[in-house]
Amino acid sequence: MIDVLITWWSGRGVTHVGLTREDARALDDEDPLAMYRKYFVPAHDSTVYMDGNSLGRMPLAAPETVNAVLRRWQDDQIIAWREWIKLPIVLGDVLGSSIVDATPGDIVFGDSTSVNLYKTISAAIAARPGRGRAITSSDIFPTDRYVLESVCRERGLTLDTLSVDVVRSVTSDDLAACLDTDVAVVVLSHVAYLSGALLDMAELSRLAREVGAIVVWDVSHSAGSVRVPLRSSGADVAVGCSYKYLNGGPGAPAFTYLNPGIADELQQPIWGWFGHAQQFAMSDEYQPAFGVRQHLVGAPSILSLAAIEPGLRLLADAGIEALERKGQQLTDVLVTLAADLLEPVGFGIVTPGQAEARGSHVTLRHSRAKELVKALIRQRVIPDFRPPDMLRLGPAAIYTRFTDAWDAIDALRDASLTQRQGHVPAL
Ligand SMILES: *Cc1c(COP(=O)(O)O)cnc(C)c1O
Repeated sequence: MIDVLITWWSGRGVTHVGLTREDARALDDEDPLAMYRKYFVPAHDSTVYMDGNSLGRMPLAAPETVNAVLRRWQDDQIIAWREWIKLPIVLGDVLGSSIVDATPGDIVFGDSTSVNLYKTISAAIAARPGRGRAITSSDIFPTDRYVLESVCRERGLTLDTLSVDVVRSVTSDDLAACLDTDVAVVVLSHVAYLSGALLDMAELSRLAREVGAIVVWDVSHSAGSVRVPLRSSGADVAVGCSYKYLNGGPGAPAFTYLNPGIADELQQPIWGWFGHAQQFAMSDEYQPAFGVRQHLVGAPSILSLAAIEPGLRLLADAGIEALERKGQQLTDVLVTLAADLLEPVGFGIVTPGQAEARGSHVTLRHSRAKELVKALIRQRVIPDFRPPDMLRLGPAAIYTRFTDAWDAIDALRDASLTQRQGHVPAL
């Protein structure tokens, strides 16, 4: 559980394991990513922001980037579209070349994750005609389940739900036990939104490939927080969200990745002019563009796309290996302190103990989780609540300090003890 911290401390002569706030401050002082915090707004606020896994903070450069689009709209009008039209692909290349592992041209930005799930799941099912089953896990994010269920209904497939351990999420044994050649598509989350468990993308992809099933990976909770080995694992399809660890802004367009080896087998169902091989030929016949470009549909939201770029540039500059390493250290601080200070006062830890087995958030269980989250928000410590009894702490390596992690646990312990003594303020 404390492996990463011990490695960290061993080089610094810290011998005890009980982590004090001074220790957390020492980790901040030595943090090679500390300089990136100043590129986010507000840089010197006392808020302890622990919801980077739901809505990433605003990069300092975002307003100016959006303003620049507004000025071009004002000054250049339609002429500006010559460049704007490339934005879904240009941003996909930034993401794929330095934040997730992909080849330029294999990722496009556009639409929401839910819509991209619809397009990719439908395409996968159509590419495996005659197969009657789809698989997902019991801990999948709700929108993934809803979309998968609707496509299964539309196409007459049976949806099987793997009942998985909530802390570990999907293991290779879980998946192997229910795969056969009747399975068309498997929908999995690379980092489980509930527990933060990190799945073995390479091994699970390999198992599915053995029976000819296509895996649609949801990388919403992993893009920008851990390495996402799309190319090296041979993953087929991935979709993900850009308003979480990518800091793209509320409702920022999502992205789609297709493995170039399978892209042309996958015909997505929403035939729009932006996905046409020759968009401006204005032809009567639909002819899909090559590769992932056919997943574009209609005119992209340029203002929202533009706001994604500053966050991507900061993450690319920091480097995903360094971000992943700091994410493991931050979650180690949270898990270690939670075991020391929160478990004795009624909390449970719903996140894998080993740093390599999780993404960048830590989930706790408490019978009064909802009230605790409200109490913390009043003190400007921001976690999130997942019914019925879970709360998540989502540090983001690019702007969260080790002292923030320490303060969040301290505030939770205080709030739970205050509530236990009956000093519950009116909510
Ligand atoms: C946040 C999130 C989504 C969001 O979907 P949208 O349609 O973009 O709102 C989908 N899946 C997962 C796993 C998520 O964490």
